Amino acid sequence: MLTVAPEQPVVRLEPDGRPHAIVIGSGFGGLAAAVRLGARGYRVTVLERLDAPGGRAYVHRQDGFTFDAGPTIITAPFLFEELWEMCGRKLSDDVELRAIDPFYDLVFNDGERLSCGASMRDEIARIAPDDVAGYDRFMRRSEEIYRVGFEQLGAAPFHAWTEMLRVAPDLLRLGGLESVYSLVSRYVRDPRVRIALSFHPLFVGGNPFSTTAVYCLISYLERRHGVHFAMGGTGALVEGLVTLIRGQGGAVRCDAEVAEIILSDGAASGVRLLNGETLRADIVVSNADSAHTYGRLVPASARKTWTDGRLASARYSMSLFVWYFGTNRQYPRVPHHTILLGPRYRELIEDIFTHKRLASDMSLYLHRPTATDPSLAPAASRCRHRLEVRG
Ligand SMILES: Cc1cc2nc3c(=O)[nH]c(=O)nc-3n(C[C@H](O)[C@H](O)[C@H](O)COP(=O)(O)OP(=O)(O)OC[C@H]3O[C@@H](n4cnc5c(N)ncnc54)[C@H](O)[C@@H]3O)c2cc1C
Repeated sequence: MLTVAPEQPVVRLEPDGRPHAIVIGSGFGGLAAAVRLGARGYRVTVLERLDAPGGRAYVHRQDGFTFDAGPTIITAPFLFEELWEMCGRKLSDDVELRAIDPFYDLVFNDGERLSCGASMRDEIARIAPDDVAGYDRFMRRSEEIYRVGFEQLGAAPFHAWTEMLRVAPDLLRLGGLESVYSLVSRYVRDPRVRIALSFHPLFVGGNPFSTTAVYCLISYLERRHGVHFAMGGTGALVEGLVTLIRGQGGAVRCDAEVAEIILSDGAASGVRLLNGETLRADIVVSNADSAHTYGRLVPASARKTWTDGRLASARYSMSLFVWYFGTNRQYPRVPHHTILLGPRYRELIEDIFTHKRLASDMSLYLHRPTATDPSLAPAASRCRHRLEVRG
């Protein structure tokens, strides 16, 4: 997220007495920023170029089916609870987050299935008994990393190298120089268990063979807080956040694409929309993708660091192909989340991250939300799926 504001904002009071904040983008990041600004006394306008809020959490509806376009796994519900509390409300008043167990099933190429969730230890004892002790030690390490990497540093700003320097000893001690896969491999030997404990960086576009082992905290994060699904679909969380913003006296405007962030004396003073409309603001927060923000919204003359050349040569994380489909019958034995792994792991990831080629033996992630919430499909079929291919 890029916040463009002067060190000491020149606060122009709006008719209702509050300074004005513009947030570009209505994804979870933008909506959360809007709630936080609203709680700090700003009148907030969220500007979204699409016809509905949510960004990657956009909702598609067709023939009685509800499809969440992107995120469905909620691993840190307390972050949402915090936003509701800022507005004097409780998340559970508006959205039901239901804990799922197992969190997800991994299906290996040899046909073996590993249910990851509360019974993970028993599952490892079943398919790789020699790895149980190593798994226990790994989970203790994951907790240790979580305590520092998430609880202490998760919300710390890293705007300057001096801030990085301050936490460097902790990061090194936690395995900051090692990859997720390398750390996992020091605890367990079975290739399937290694996959189960190391694939998480793929959730955030990271390569398990090069992403810092700090991300091993996700194993403990899942165990500590569980994996949840928003009843009604992830879109229920988006709707809930939009309602919070409106309750604070803010606005969420869709079909409002920002063409340019207007700068005055080097600080943001408003935005110009694609339709020519100009909006003034005391603070502008862009939660559009950072390359888009710097490359398209901030004039090149005002960019010292993120020049066009640097943006063009930056390395971007992988994309993915998502296929949304409904069926006219039910598949009650298919769990909510299933990851179907192909024959290769390291080599497939090299294809994705290094060679940048789409393999024919890709791994798939199958989402069946009707396993938890049947209302997402018409009564006649009650089946709704999403298939993801990472590449
Ligand atoms: C298929 C898929 C599955 C995922 N699954 C999970 C999951 O299960 N759990 C999880 O935690 N995460 C998941 N993620 C990641 C998660 O979706 C993202 O991290 C999160 O939604 C990003 O939110 P954001 O607000 O940062 O960005 P975005 O959601 O991308 O929001 C940016 C918004 O800015 C708008 N915008 C851009 N430019 C402009 C402009 N010039 N003017 C106005 N508006 C503009 C865009 O239209 C968009 O709405 C998944 C992602 C995908 C794609």
